[in-house]
Amino acid sequence: MITLKEALQLPKEEIIALREDLKKAIEEKKELGAYVEQLQGIQISEYGEGIPIAIKDNIQVMGWNVTSASNILQGYVAPYNATVIDKMLSHGLAPFGRTNMDEFAMGSSTETSFYGKTLNPHNTKCVPGGSSGGSAAAVAAGIAIAALGSDTGGSIRQPAAFCGCVGMKPTYGKVSRYGLGAYSSSLDQIGPITQNVEDAAILFDIIAGHEIKDSTSANLVHEKVSDKLNSDKKQTIAVIENYLEEANDAIKDVMKNAIKALEEAGHKIVYKSLSDSKYDIATYYVIAAAEASANFSRYDGVRYGNRTESSNLKEMYKKTRSEGFGEEVKRRILLGTFVLSSGYYDAYYIKAQKARHFIKSRFEEILSEADLIFTPVTPTTAFEFGSKSDPLEMYLQDIYTISVNLAGLPAISVPIGKASDGMPVGAQFIGKAYGEQNLFDGALSLEKILK
Ligand code: GLN
Repeated sequence: MITLKEALQLPKEEIIALREDLKKAIEEKKELGAYVEQLQGIQISEYGEGIPIAIKDNIQVMGWNVTSASNILQGYVAPYNATVIDKMLSHGLAPFGRTNMDEFAMGSSTETSFYGKTLNPHNTKCVPGGSSGGSAAAVAAGIAIAALGSDTGGSIRQPAAFCGCVGMKPTYGKVSRYGLGAYSSSLDQIGPITQNVEDAAILFDIIAGHEIKDSTSANLVHEKVSDKLNSDKKQTIAVIENYLEEANDAIKDVMKNAIKALEEAGHKIVYKSLSDSKYDIATYYVIAAAEASANFSRYDGVRYGNRTESSNLKEMYKKTRSEGFGEEVKRRILLGTFVLSSGYYDAYYIKAQKARHFIKSRFEEILSEADLIFTPVTPTTAFEFGSKSDPLEMYLQDIYTISVNLAGLPAISVPIGKASDGMPVGAQFIGKAYGEQNLFDGALSLEKILK
């Protein structure tokens, strides 16, 4: 598949031809279910005429049935564009297709989608990761030039790692969340999923920047990173020893090779440790569920999408929400409501906020002595469908990614090889807040050495 960088050089007629070819390729790979349209057997959604970019089904595109892969949003038509979409359009890019995801971005396998499964292109018995599984599978299968995903606790980086592509989560506040279906507002960020590091930098530059419609948008002038990419820059890279120890042997071996390669390329490797990831998991699931329970009160059958008719208002809310939300979403709403309730607020929610502060300060300590942090993205390679039926086991998928969202830092997942099972392995660089230039430079350096 042509890269985004190459596509940006194409004359208009060739872009039109490219879009037609892509539609055929998507039809041929229908069984992958990377796009919601493939799963529904309908025509690919389009808006504008630029270079086609696949869009996760929780990002507003005017006129599209944007649903966060939920039953409750069937029939909802987005009345406006997310800021990232308007920015893309002004750079000659155009939204093309809705990619499948876990319902409301809750999950790590895309198995909770209302539309059904997305298959991992490297082994169709395995999940593509989640929640942006459709975006990652589409890029990996050569049926998207690039895609947008969203990352609340790893949902861009983990599927990118499972599918062997690049996925990047920006610093919190760097990319406007206006028009992103809110899951956990203090953690959510939109970011690129691409075929290589340079394309990720290009797409990040297009979508980043201050904007008043998102009150948490950082009031900074965006300095483009893609023009200044420098893979020769030598950096101090902190390897997190306790994370590496926890990963399974297949991941460990590939990671160790990558660390050796970074050292041979002239980077300085230092060894550090981070707090036990079990605290990250607990902190994240309290905060994310609390924020989700508040955000999801808007899905009431009145404002958006599906409504179950009833004889009175209260009954209508109840039935609409009972029928509209899937199991995992309900579990999170219940958990979130519980940790925010009086009597439990201090014991859980306030405690989690304190733990979040602690996690952030530990990252800051390490990043005062190193330019970048280097960790695995996932503890294992892509797993088989249905193999994680216990929700807690699924939550453990995020042990290396969620603390980054809690700390608000930028991070990128880069493919570093294959494990003995033949499945892709990804490594993660974590940068300083607003330190995207160093992050992309480090990632590009690694990508080049491993080629
Ligand atoms: N797997 C995590 C969750 O289910 C993260 C998802 C995400 O980043 N959107 O909450």
